[in-house]
Amino acid sequence: MDFNCHYVARLFCDYGIRYAGGLDMHSKILILRFPRTEVQKPLVCNLVKRFDLTFNILNATILPRKEGVMVLELSGSRKNFKEGVNYLKSQGVSVKNASQEVKRINNRCTHCGACTAVCPTGALSVQRPEMRVEFDQQKCSVCELCIPACPTRAMEARPTRNQSFFE
Ligand code: SF4
Ligand code: SF4
Repeated sequence: MDFNCHYVARLFCDYGIRYAGGLDMHSKILILRFPRTEVQKPLVCNLVKRFDLTFNILNATILPRKEGVMVLELSGSRKNFKEGVNYLKSQGVSVKNASQEVKRINNRCTHCGACTAVCPTGALSVQRPEMRVEFDQQKCSVCELCIPACPTRAMEARPTRNQSFFE
């Protein structure tokens, strides 16, 4: 099930984009994975309330096993950013730097369709009547579910930048 902006607003309290300026400001795009037990909790709201951070949700999805995956841009002072990320981790949320992208190595793809069964965003889809599998990177949330699902190892995650959370 996709959870669109409206659904995200209900679950995670969408504060929208607020520009964060200043000398010590830090901004990164992060991939958050929420265990199914934490999906309903307002953890992202707490980043605003407790750590004075701002966020912009770029993509959010509930996976088949009810875990949540969210890609968001998080901004705030370096100190608050670090404390906010540590808070999420303490709540069991996996936090990764989204300085990577998922690509398809087209000459490895046999168009078997296995990846379309796990892709939660529709980035991988079967085009009829040709029955070719198309990859729309604009829809990709970098959840990486397609990587182990692909029998020919056609889907790969690649770094786009070499950055750490707190550099
Ligand atoms: S699972 Fe791999 S080989 Fe099959 S359609 Fe998807 S990318 Fe292509
Ligand atoms: S990483 Fe793969 S499964 Fe996840 S959204 Fe992108 S194409 Fe779909």
